[in-house]
Amino acid sequence: MSDRIGGRIKTMKFADNYIDLGAQWVYGKDNNLVYEMADVDELGKTNGTIANMDWIRSNGKKITEGVVDQMLDLITTVYDNMKDDKIDPTITFGDYLSKMFDREVEKQNIRIDRSLAKEFIVTFKKMEGNMADTDMSAFDYWSFQPCGGSGLLNWRDKGFKQFLHHLVNGDDLNEHGVLKGCIDLNRRVRQVEWDRPDGSVLVSCEKEKYSADHVVITFSLGVLKHSSTLFQPSLPDSHCKAINSMGFGNVCKIFVEFQEKFWPDDWRGFNALWRAQDLPAQPWLKDIYGFHVYDHQPRVLLGWACGVHVEAIETIKHSALVDGIVRMLNHFLRNFNVSRPNNVIISKWSTDPAHRGSYSYPSVLATENDTGPKSLAQPIHVQVAETREPSDTSISSTSETPPITARPVLFFAGEATSSNHYSTVHGAVESGIREADRIISFYRSSTY
Ligand SMILES: Cc1cc2nc3c(=O)[nH]c(=O)nc-3n(C[C@H](O)[C@H](O)[C@H](O)COP(=O)(O)OP(=O)(O)OC[C@H]3O[C@@H](n4cnc5c(N)ncnc54)[C@H](O)[C@@H]3O)c2cc1C
Repeated sequence: MSDRIGGRIKTMKFADNYIDLGAQWVYGKDNNLVYEMADVDELGKTNGTIANMDWIRSNGKKITEGVVDQMLDLITTVYDNMKDDKIDPTITFGDYLSKMFDREVEKQNIRIDRSLAKEFIVTFKKMEGNMADTDMSAFDYWSFQPCGGSGLLNWRDKGFKQFLHHLVNGDDLNEHGVLKGCIDLNRRVRQVEWDRPDGSVLVSCEKEKYSADHVVITFSLGVLKHSSTLFQPSLPDSHCKAINSMGFGNVCKIFVEFQEKFWPDDWRGFNALWRAQDLPAQPWLKDIYGFHVYDHQPRVLLGWACGVHVEAIETIKHSALVDGIVRMLNHFLRNFNVSRPNNVIISKWSTDPAHRGSYSYPSVLATENDTGPKSLAQPIHVQVAETREPSDTSISSTSETPPITARPVLFFAGEATSSNHYSTVHGAVESGIREADRIISFYRSSTY
């Protein structure tokens, strides 16, 4: 399916260094397997937090620090209250946040322009998990457990591929490391036949076929949602319910390289507040919620987009995309002399058939259907007649019918199967270890 390892870890050379089109940060250090596998020195602290970005309205006016602080304080209050709130399981996270933020603005009788407060919450929701405009559940919001300590850590000038090196004990010259010779690239799995009389699983690609005792499925939730014919027979109802109900979002990263930077050294970027009267003719532009500086890339701005127009951004003609970006930057950054970029590159996770989206989230529908990562992570068993090696004397007579046992054939891993660390690399890694342990315990506890 792909000509490289890594999936949603995708580091590439760009401008003066590397960029990450997918995973970029190690989120915290406590109980974070990715952090534990890294060398402490190769991780750097990222300075680009919400607190030190500019917030600029589409009339070019920067919001004063005092007003930004006031609004961030209100958000903090909303989050603090949320922990003890009896949240309606049918309300989306986006609607909940807007409602509670508005309530706090009124309750505290804050003296801020109400249209500005509305613009702020629209952009804040996009930034927060990138899942604005989705049916992300407010009720299940706290199912995600952040790893404490150190915030956002980056891989300095190496990119997240450095972690893949740790994972397989490889390096730039030997990217597959200890798995050299064990990975077949460019194979698109077309069908997984899992209920065969001999208990094996047959994985069919375009040309090749692989027979296996067990298969660990790590397709993204987006791929699973789009693959009605991938499994033969179809997966059990509980898995189908999980796949159909859980949420999978769309996020797009837009890397813009300039000949020279046009911003001061201490500037970290801006969050865009679109005023109702300035909404752009190209609706996709308003899904880009800001441009931020990128660590170890002195001439690059990284734009972030999420929402219903991500697919349009991924498929739009490149020249139209660049024109739109330049227009947007000029519109918001009126105090800067914005130059035409040398190069623009965007991630294409939602239109890439190998991913079909960015990462999973707990949805209102999953809460309603009482399903989620735990259901998706359940292995699937088939009933097989137990066979023994001829040397095994415990089966004495050939006339005996061999006992029927339940053999786990399909295992599920990947970020969407993590109940508390979904949408992250550490969640994906933990899930792989979880399934490896499951296979080991199966062999330890069974007579195979
Ligand atoms: C824009 C973006 C930013 C992110 N930022 C961060 C971050 O800063 N920190 C963080 O921790 N996480 C981040 N994440 C999330 C993180 O990247 C993922 O959670 C994690 O990499 C998922 O790993 P996985 O193994 O579950 O799935 P994937 O990495 O998606 O692996 C799935 C694999 O399945 C393959 N595949 C799919 N279909 C087929 C098929 N039919 N046949 C054969 N192979 C197939 C794909 O090619 C891919 O290699 C980000 C994700 C995105 C998209």
